[in-house]
Amino acid sequence: MNINAEKNYYKVLGVEKKAKAKSIKKRYRELAKKYHPDANQGSRKAEEIFKKISEAYEVLGNAKKRKAYDHLRANGAGTPRPQSRSQRRNYNDDFDFGRQYQRRGPRQEPGGEPSGSAGFQEEEAIDPSWPTRGFDLQFMVDVPFTLAALGGILPYTYEKYVLCPDCQGSGLNADEDPCEPCKGTQRIVQEVTLNVDIPSGVVNQYTLRIANEGGCGRNGGPPGDLMVKVCITPHPRFKKLKKDIYAEIPISAELAEKGGSLEVETLDSVQPIQVEDGTLTGEEYRIPGLGSTEPWGKKRGDFVIKFLITDS
Ligand SMILES: [Zn+2]
Repeated sequence: MNINAEKNYYKVLGVEKKAKAKSIKKRYRELAKKYHPDANQGSRKAEEIFKKISEAYEVLGNAKKRKAYDHLRANGAGTPRPQSRSQRRNYNDDFDFGRQYQRRGPRQEPGGEPSGSAGFQEEEAIDPSWPTRGFDLQFMVDVPFTLAALGGILPYTYEKYVLCPDCQGSGLNADEDPCEPCKGTQRIVQEVTLNVDIPSGVVNQYTLRIANEGGCGRNGGPPGDLMVKVCITPHPRFKKLKKDIYAEIPISAELAEKGGSLEVETLDSVQPIQVEDGTLTGEEYRIPGLGSTEPWGKKRGDFVIKFLITDS
C-alpha cells in the first residue's frame, strides 16, 4: 500500500507518537470493535471511521511501515504547523466553495455532503503548500430510459475546478506575483462536458464512479473523482423488469378476434408481428433478443408485448 504521510494516523487512533506497538494494537482493537460495521447496523459514519482506523493501523501496526511513515512525516509531509490566518482562510474558502458548488449542480443528492469533505477536514492541519487532492463531485443525472436499457454515451455538462490556464496552476504570474485570474489559488471554475459511458442495463439510482473527472488538485495533487448517480427517466410505454422490456400494446377488438399483422415499436426498432385470432387482453407476445441486458451485460433479454384490447 501507499503510505500517506499527509494523514495523521496517530491522531486517528488517538495514540501518542511514542506509543508502544502493544498499546497501538490494543487501541486499534478497541476502536475496531466499537466501529465495526456489523456492530453498527450499516451506519455509514461508523463504516467511514472503521475504514480510517483500519488504514491507520495498517501502517502503525507494522513496524516497517511505521518507521517509513515516521520518517516521511519527520521530513515535512503532513507535519502540522502553525498556520497564518490567511492560509487558514484559504482552506475554509475551499471547503465552503466545495459545498456550494455541489448545490449548483442539476440536483443534489438528498442530504449529500461532498464526498471529499471527510478527508478534507483532516487536511486542515496540513501545510497548504503540500499537494492536496481535488474535490470529488457527485451529481444526479437524468438518463433516458432507452439509453439506460441499451447503454451508450451521454454528454454531461457540469462545473468543476480546473487548473488555471493563465499560470498553469502555479498561482503566480511572470513577475512571481499572485496570478490575477485565479487570485493565486491555482484553480478556476469552468464548465466542462464529459461523455459519460452509460453501461447497458444499468439500474436506477446506481452511482457510476468516474476516476479523475472531479475537481483538480492543488500543488500538483491528483484530481478528485466524479460520481454520477443514474436517474432513469420513466418511459411512457415501456417498463423494465430485469433484462426484459414490457410494453402494453392496445389493439382493436376486431384485430384481437380475427387476428392480423401489426407493427410494434421496440427499444431500437420497429417489428412486424402477427396477432393470432382470438387474442385476449393481457396475453403476451415475446420477441427474443430485443430487451435490455443485465447491468454491463451483452446478451439481451426479451421484448414482451402485452395486448390490451380496446373497445373500438
Ligand atoms: Zn492562475
